[in-house]
Amino acid sequence: MSTPGTLTTPGSAGEPRRAGTVLRVGIVGAGQLARMTHRAAIDLGIEVVVLATSADEPAVAAGATCRLGSPEVLEDLAALAAACDVVTFDHERIPTEHLEALERRGIAVRPAAQAALAAQDKLHARRLLGDELGLPVPAFAPVEDAAAVARFALRHGWPVVLKARRGGYDGRGVAMVHTPGEAEAVLATGGEWLAEACVPLDLEVAAMVARSPSGELVSYPVVETVQAAGMCRELRAPAAIPPALAEEAQALARLIAERLGATGILAVELFVSDGRLLVNELALRPHNSGHWTIEGAATSQFENHLRGVLDLPLGETTLRAPAVATVNVVGPRDGGDPRARLAAALAVPGAQVHLYGKAARPGRKLGHVTALAGTAGAAREIAQRAAGALGSPA
Ligand code: ADP
Repeated sequence: MSTPGTLTTPGSAGEPRRAGTVLRVGIVGAGQLARMTHRAAIDLGIEVVVLATSADEPAVAAGATCRLGSPEVLEDLAALAAACDVVTFDHERIPTEHLEALERRGIAVRPAAQAALAAQDKLHARRLLGDELGLPVPAFAPVEDAAAVARFALRHGWPVVLKARRGGYDGRGVAMVHTPGEAEAVLATGGEWLAEACVPLDLEVAAMVARSPSGELVSYPVVETVQAAGMCRELRAPAAIPPALAEEAQALARLIAERLGATGILAVELFVSDGRLLVNELALRPHNSGHWTIEGAATSQFENHLRGVLDLPLGETTLRAPAVATVNVVGPRDGGDPRARLAAALAVPGAQVHLYGKAARPGRKLGHVTALAGTAGAAREIAQRAAGALGSPA
């Protein structure tokens, strides 16, 4: 286990703190997103220091400098920050008050605590996007009990989508309920929930931008995200939607990034419903919907996140091929480890394989495969074949 040797001196609030020539980015979290950010940092001579809860997390296994600690312990976060120019994160499970406390200590938290809140708290996000910014979002209401869900259903119909206010991911913390009884069972699991109208989905897309503190902003082409059981399984770039709708999605993402003062990557998940856009969720960090950018765009989301949080010039976002497909590699039902099947996937010409070094469990995201091709169908065929060769269920 290595720890950074020299500590930086504190700079003024909001300014990156420079230790000298080597830039150091602290990442709270050490999962696959931190691992792929570390990989991008290596090429730029930037050092990544991760706050990991255990030494076998994906970014640590990939050689990122590591501090062991908890994202819920302020002093662990402060120790990470003391070794770095800026602090960012690869997940949302950090108490907002801790991020605010770091800011009060003059630490450059990127994105800032107030902006990060929009990804941590789904009710806050809905109020901000829908009520304050007036953007299209599904009808929603906080609900305390099954009676409140039933009242919501009177206005918006069954089924109702219940969402945990905090802490959900990959469909965990999201439940579609058809009766007050089902609602009761979900609410009984504890925590705060909001009800959302169940929207008929034509398809789901994501609009991604990168923004720097000095206000530079770049937009990636809009990507289609294909979900199964609440988990993103496949990306198709560019999304097969009318150009005007893609422009509208990009404009929404730009507006949200500006209004939040986002820094680094902002991913905006959107529903296309009856040909119209509704904002679903925000991520203010690299996101699954941007994995295609590693090979598929001129600058990956991971590199642009680093550039953004460090206030460096942002990289170009143009597509490198007419069509890019990414298929997530999910743990096979037989519990097998995709790493044992690597040769079969590498035998698929054109497949770019990424495995995250995570212990295999059925249904767990363990990697992804990207393919670039002349047509969307050809790119998908390659990526799906290689993911299947790794044992990922279709
Ligand atoms: P997570 O935090 O797990 O990503 P999301 O809010 O993105 O949760 O929901 C996961 C998936 O559930 C979405 O991608 C979409 O397929 C479905 N979903 C979520 N909200 C709604 C809704 N209001 N109407 C219809 N489907 C929904």
